[in-house]
Amino acid sequence: MPASSSHAEELQMLPGNMECADCGAHCPDWASVNHGVLICIDCAGTHRSLGAHISKVKSTQLDSWRGEELQSFASKGGNLQANALLTQAGAPPPPPRGASRGTLERYIRAKYAPNSPPHGDSPQPAADPVEAMIRRMQAARKARRTTERAALRLQAPAWPLRSFPFSSESV
Ligand SMILES: [Zn+2]
Repeated sequence: MPASSSHAEELQMLPGNMECADCGAHCPDWASVNHGVLICIDCAGTHRSLGAHISKVKSTQLDSWRGEELQSFASKGGNLQANALLTQAGAPPPPPRGASRGTLERYIRAKYAPNSPPHGDSPQPAADPVEAMIRRMQAARKARRTTERAALRLQAPAWPLRSFPFSSESV
């Protein structure tokens, strides 16, 4: 059941809700229900990638909203107030308008999920000295074998050449 358009309009009436809470795009029609902010479809994608435990993303047009969701959303007071609260909680200042999607993604992550490491950038596992030594030894052995093979390849053409004068001598 899609939300009635009056719900979407109600949500957009809250202060600041005519612009995406994250990038400032006009007339956002997605929402982070638990953070009480309206966001554009692009920022909604980033919110979704954070996981529903961090940001519960819903469309104001396509999804149905339960009464308590609407209430909890509205209780945050709209984008202006929710952003002010997030800033108080340590959210970084928003990037300038027209910032790249990558910059916005980093901003959104820092704003809503300050303690989760970015995708594909998880901290390196603690270095295990023994494992590091084994890897160094394997690399050294591989390098030595490569050098030996290269040396053999260099010698290889010499054999037929050396046998050539032998065969001509025997004539
Ligand atoms: Zn946006």
